[in-house]
Amino acid sequence: MRENVSMSTSSPASLTNLLLLGQGSDLKSERGVSCTGEMPAASDPDLVERAVAARAALGDRALILGHHYQRDEVIAFADITGDSFKLAQAAAAQSSAEYIIFCGVHFMAESADILTSAAQKVILPDLAAGCSMADMATANQVQKCWEDLTAVGVSAKTIPVTYMNSSAAIKSFTGEHGGTICTSSNAKKTMEWALTKGEKILFLPDQHLGRNTAVLSLGLSLNDCVLWDPWKPMGGLTPEEIRAAKVILWRGHCSVHGRFSVESVEEVRKRVPGVQVLVHPECKNEVVSIADVVGSTEMIIKTVEASPAGSKWAIGTELNLVSRLAKAHLDKEILFLDKTVCYCSTMNRIDLPHLVWAMESLVAGHVVNQIKVAPDVARFSKLALEQMLAL
Ligand code: SF4
Repeated sequence: MRENVSMSTSSPASLTNLLLLGQGSDLKSERGVSCTGEMPAASDPDLVERAVAARAALGDRALILGHHYQRDEVIAFADITGDSFKLAQAAAAQSSAEYIIFCGVHFMAESADILTSAAQKVILPDLAAGCSMADMATANQVQKCWEDLTAVGVSAKTIPVTYMNSSAAIKSFTGEHGGTICTSSNAKKTMEWALTKGEKILFLPDQHLGRNTAVLSLGLSLNDCVLWDPWKPMGGLTPEEIRAAKVILWRGHCSVHGRFSVESVEEVRKRVPGVQVLVHPECKNEVVSIADVVGSTEMIIKTVEASPAGSKWAIGTELNLVSRLAKAHLDKEILFLDKTVCYCSTMNRIDLPHLVWAMESLVAGHVVNQIKVAPDVARFSKLALEQMLAL
């Protein structure tokens, strides 16, 4: 999310400024849209061969981590695949590889850098692979929120619980204020832990995961949750609403999962008799409430794997994963829940040309696209991440 861009439709030139990545007034928000050296063309017929050769040349010096939402062409070269929790564990457990090539998005690579040793280098093949949800909570906004919570007298009893899908700066805030990181696999456990430490939770930045976990897993009511809008004074809430709330949800969402709708669930149930709806907890509460099964990415995979032949599933998560599940389970009917929802555009920025470019550069001795979290930010982020891994 760009905070400093003013949009004008008065002249074509002002529109052009918005369209040229990295050329606008907010250079930092348009990270890494160019790559030094030679980027192979996507049409290069030798691309797979080049990837195999570069991978072999790197050998044990490199570990390739692939998030489940990555393209098939990238997953084919992953040593470990997983959701953000599993990949964070893999990065933390890995002590020998010199390079961790992270095929995922920026916040995941930041977490890997925080959890690996100073000698290890974390590489993100395309620096423009960010996450719109993570961008919905900036450090300044979260700091202002905390000052407001302090002003109404609740910050001392509030524990931040921050979804993995957040910048290192927000993770650092979380560690500094005695909180923890969570993922969709362990959100229940982390929120339960937080309520043993304090009376309220500030849940960042995904309102849907926070709300769904509070209501469906912790037995709280929708009225126990309030929504903090960072663009409004005092989050758009009254001091009384803030004091009465058990969970303060940040107004952020995933631009992929947030698009699944009640209508798509009703439509697929009409169209495919016997279908079961399986969705990720980043979907809206009204969608999750009528689904048959709700679970993290890893849980979605395990549910499909464990289901009998002939079962039918309409799945509400990222399309690359759903397509792969459909190909791997031809004895089952696997459908994408909504016809109009697209791939995660930022996850898709990591493609085979970028992976080949990153690997060939490393083979040639050039470290490219290294993700390095500043030591002062890494210190408290690590506390928050280690708190999560210890739960
Ligand atoms: S799927 Fe959603 S939460 Fe995940 S990287 Fe894409 S935008 Fe971010």
